[in-house]
Amino acid sequence: MSVRFEPAARRSVGRAVIRAEGEGREDTDGRHLVLALLEPAGTITARALDALGVDRAALLRLLGAGDDGAPLAAADANVLLERANAIAQRLGDQTVTELSILLACAGDESGAVGDVLRAAGVTPERVEAVYALGRAAAPASGGGAATSAPPVVARSGIGYDSHRFAPGGPMMLGGVAIPGDVHLAGHSDGDAVAHALTDAILGAAGAGDIGEMFSDQDPANRGRDSIEMLRAAVQRVRDLGLAVHQVDVTVVAERPRVGQYRAAMRDRLAPALGVRPEDVSIKGKTNEGMGWVGRGEGLACIAVATLVPRTAGAAG
Ligand code: MG
Repeated sequence: MSVRFEPAARRSVGRAVIRAEGEGREDTDGRHLVLALLEPAGTITARALDALGVDRAALLRLLGAGDDGAPLAAADANVLLERANAIAQRLGDQTVTELSILLACAGDESGAVGDVLRAAGVTPERVEAVYALGRAAAPASGGGAATSAPPVVARSGIGYDSHRFAPGGPMMLGGVAIPGDVHLAGHSDGDAVAHALTDAILGAAGAGDIGEMFSDQDPANRGRDSIEMLRAAVQRVRDLGLAVHQVDVTVVAERPRVGQYRAAMRDRLAPALGVRPEDVSIKGKTNEGMGWVGRGEGLACIAVATLVPRTAGAAG
């Protein structure tokens, strides 16, 4: 096997071999590798699991650290390190990293160790999502995010949208039908709060934008329910291992005054975002009569969303 190891990964493999020898075992296996990766609190994998909300101490107990019972079965370390090498190459890394070793162990279906990892929420998909976040946060010259950047705990995104008023109500805003004599002109239902939120969520994940997800050239998007679009964006970031933590929206408009619709908007948006209503902030501002907003030509919305890695216990 011709495999190059990043230094921290090499040290982890060394610890695994020492652990196996300490147990009187001739062969090092996946259990030794995982324990070596997770036991020291500062390793990149330990921090990744912390970021995922995995109870590392409980996981270590399950894997039999210091346990004199029969050790869980796992694939041979050499087999797993070959797989880690293939994973590292797929991810574009020059060397095997701690995270690519963990990915190989979490994806192993030949023994109980992989089962225990996945049951604890350490699935290859979630580990890879954390890896991708670390890579995104690493400096361009960092030479491999998995070694140079800790897992990102939270990410923020901003979204902006504006729509012109057009005759005929009701106006869809924040998923609520506001009675009146105008609505928001648009290809979809024009819900600028939902659109700004959709862009904030996608922006926080670095996962594109609403125009790319829902082209206004596509007839299927005509008159589309914007809450449905918001749900699709939330699902996209969930697929990347992220969940919405909290959002904050400012509606800039001379009318309507959003205060009386705030509770209804929070109740409508929260289930789409997968958060509690109290995690949805909706604020209203006028533009003091200035500019196009002041003249009542339309309204604007600004949204900020915070995303966190999905936790092991999170629904969905
Ligand atoms: Mg819009």
